[in-house]
Amino acid sequence: MRYGIIADIHSNLEALEKVLSALEGENVDEILCLGDIVGYGADPSECIRLVREKCAAAVCGNHDYAAVNADIREYFNPDALEALLWTEDRLNKEEKSYLAGLDIQKSAGDFLMVHSSPLFPKEWSYIYTAVDARKHFPGFDEGACFVGHTHIPAVFFCSEKNGSCGFSPEERVFLPPGMRHIINPGSVGQPRDGNPGASFAVYDEAAREVEIIRVPYDAGSASKKILEAGLPDKFALRLEGGE
Ligand code: ZN
Repeated sequence: MRYGIIADIHSNLEALEKVLSALEGENVDEILCLGDIVGYGADPSECIRLVREKCAAAVCGNHDYAAVNADIREYFNPDALEALLWTEDRLNKEEKSYLAGLDIQKSAGDFLMVHSSPLFPKEWSYIYTAVDARKHFPGFDEGACFVGHTHIPAVFFCSEKNGSCGFSPEERVFLPPGMRHIINPGSVGQPRDGNPGASFAVYDEAAREVEIIRVPYDAGSASKKILEAGLPDKFALRLEGGE
């Protein structure tokens, strides 16, 4: 199987459409979504519609969860909360029940899908470094775990033999037997690694290879819609620099 893996769309329709059209050329069997379909951006309903139409499975992100549950909203900063309440107002009952029904984690193929971390998925902790990753490898049994949440693409590995962990900086990574992996495809709709291109991954299970792919999209239009919607300016401004 070849999988297209997408995460952290954040209501950015322009970026999502571009990624889905790039995936058409990648000959994938299934597209999977790691959550945070909504939050920050101006097109929550359209993004939910496209994920439901195009993705074989999706898991719940903290923004998806908070759009339909009040209990973690106290952890959101004021701007993120403002965008969340704006999103809540725009979603219809059916869209809300879709978000409420998303699983926190899901197995697919030979890997696990979870938004934040496999060890404590509902604590929404972040995996930024190999040191962070090391703590989370015991949280899953599969050979690989795909996560989102940081908005930064990354491939972490851990040796089954001696537990040593590290980070692969390449865009195309072979996943050797004897190693387990935590892979972040980066963010479709709000990249934060200084590259404004929408980010996603293609995972070829048989070839044991994962590739992180970036595609430029019309960040100007996505950004203009955020401003016109009256959402906090910073969510518009950061799109052009991928910050
Ligand atoms: Zn996110």
